[in-house]
Amino acid sequence: MEVRLRNGIHLPGCGLWLDPKRKAPIGVVSHAHSDHAGWHEVTIATPATMDLMRARKPPPAGITLVELPYREIFTTDRARITLIPAGHVFGSAQVLVETEEGSLLYTGDFKRGESLTCEAAASVRAGTLVTECTFGRSRYAFPPIEETRKRIVGFCNRVLIEGETPVLLAYSLGKAQELMAILSREGISPVIHESVAAMSAVYAKHGVDLGSHMVWNGRNHGGRVMIIPPNARRRLAALGNIRSAVLSGWALNADAVYRYGCDEAFPLSDHADHGELIEHVEEVCARRVYTVHGFTEEFAGDLRYLGMDALALGGGNQLELLR
Ligand SMILES: [Zn+2]
Repeated sequence: MEVRLRNGIHLPGCGLWLDPKRKAPIGVVSHAHSDHAGWHEVTIATPATMDLMRARKPPPAGITLVELPYREIFTTDRARITLIPAGHVFGSAQVLVETEEGSLLYTGDFKRGESLTCEAAASVRAGTLVTECTFGRSRYAFPPIEETRKRIVGFCNRVLIEGETPVLLAYSLGKAQELMAILSREGISPVIHESVAAMSAVYAKHGVDLGSHMVWNGRNHGGRVMIIPPNARRRLAALGNIRSAVLSGWALNADAVYRYGCDEAFPLSDHADHGELIEHVEEVCARRVYTVHGFTEEFAGDLRYLGMDALALGGGNQLELLR
């Protein structure tokens, strides 16, 4: 199946765009993170993703919204579209496109393994696979998730005992809710930023229990754990007596604490690590793999080393010459 990297992933044979950056005639949105989401003339997404997008920005008048639950089929004149759980954030989906030319699976952003707030990623077979590879280098191997959760809770308790305010820096959609669920299991009720609250309300509407919490009003954080998106941290400067930790797969980089300007870094990721990426590719059993988003050339090279037909979508692919 012909695949182009042009305004997101473009499938010219069936007139479809997957995660288009600009308004497209028919766009499938894999999940509600702002670098993937947008309103299109016909917008196809899971009901949860659609609600998360609405919470950020209402759809313009005159467009068609297709809310497609996981594993149900939507048919256009040239393709059958099925959304498969991606395990990345609530509502996130991989996109299976089936046409007369064959089948294609686009992973969007995905994570394998257990999450407390979204359905685990599934794998389906497809002739062509377009996979993300944010952490597509072998040095990115995340520790067991329970170990990371214990370290985060331990950090919060330690800072509280020392009379300071623990601040967890996490994106308002996905990571923040996963943290709320982790803290809730330990009986910790956090104070959350308003942007986190807006996204959490959609989780609650869809029945995801994030435990008790309060919305930050600028004063009510004494003796509480705070969850704040990194782009709102300027408001923390006036607080004093805080200790901050960033939650990111990039915490595996030795310079993470310096790069994020925080006290600690924990590798809580909503993406697959290198080993999970390989497992996923192997399970899909595609004849041709394209890599997008991240270490595209390096990861395509790793797949070719394993005997697969793999290319970075959008060029490159010279790495095997260097091996
Ligand atoms: Zn994402």
